Amino acid sequence: LAANEADHWHLYRNDTDNIMKKRLKLAADLHQAIENNEFYLYHQPQIDLRTNSIYGSEALLRWDHPELGFVSPEEFIPVAESAGIINEITEWVVEQALLHQKNILTMFPNHKISINISARDLNKRELPVQLLTLLTELNIKPSLVVIELTESATVGDSVKAKNILDDFKEMGIKVAIDDYGTGYSSLAYLSQLGFHEIKIDKQFVMNLEHNKRDQTICKTTIEMASNLDAYVVAEGVESEQIAKILRQFGCEIAQGYHYSKPLPFVDYCQWLQRYKKS
Ligand code: C2E
Ligand code: CA
Ligand code: CA
Ligand code: CA
Repeated sequence: LAANEADHWHLYRNDTDNIMKKRLKLAADLHQAIENNEFYLYHQPQIDLRTNSIYGSEALLRWDHPELGFVSPEEFIPVAESAGIINEITEWVVEQALLHQKNILTMFPNHKISINISARDLNKRELPVQLLTLLTELNIKPSLVVIELTESATVGDSVKAKNILDDFKEMGIKVAIDDYGTGYSSLAYLSQLGFHEIKIDKQFVMNLEHNKRDQTICKTTIEMASNLDAYVVAEGVESEQIAKILRQFGCEIAQGYHYSKPLPFVDYCQWLQRYKKS
């Protein structure tokens, strides 16, 4: 190795060592995160583009680590998955989301709540029944709950994915395919598994005003979804201009910073009240 390459190698080694160390630390600390009340469930509004009214919210998990501060879910969810603690976290998320939803419904009786589940949750056959039990206890209509499954989640075992999704659907719970368009076999999933909602990934939405190819992709997806009797939720809507284009294409629902960033529950409730008045 030339001196300079050796330096790079060293830097690289240090980087990967640090990443590994951090992952190990996160995995160790995640075990206590629930009991120590370090998790928060934020909400990001979803707007019905046809009426500009509130459709619902997506529940998004936040971890306030005692030393590191807020750690992104993009970072800790994969760690929780490989450490085998995602099921426990999903249970916490589901329960918290439904308690919030119960509260929101007193002000907004048609508000929907979208909950993210991970590929690893598909191994848990009891999840749909657990969810239904909570819905019954809280007296919440199943049709006001949407389960978001990321496209890549179904890669492992599509039979298992189908079984669990069918359970949700039989209970009247809605299912959404998340990050649509980013996986390897989007169309195969749409063909094998029926979804109520297709969430177009933000990478196709964020530059919609300027990118003709993204316009074609969004327009075509919206047309196809309509023929499949599914709603399209566009994420990453950062401007009114983008909302306008999506509305022209016939997109039903928009989510993004243009409306609001994900907010802590109390702030979200205030946001809802203000939006209603405006
Ligand atoms: P996702 O499900 O695709 O969630 C959408 C992400 O896009 C959120 O990031 C949200 O804050 C962000 N976003 C929304 N609107 C905009 C926008 O206009 N512009 C930009 N640049 N970004 C926008 P977040 O909250 O950091 O979550 C990241 C990912 O972590 C989620 O992606 C999801 O895959 C995962 N995640 C979050 N909460 C949970 C959870 O409770 N359970 C599971 N299994 N995964 C979760
Ligand atoms: Ca999602
Ligand atoms: Ca998404
Ligand atoms: Ca995503």
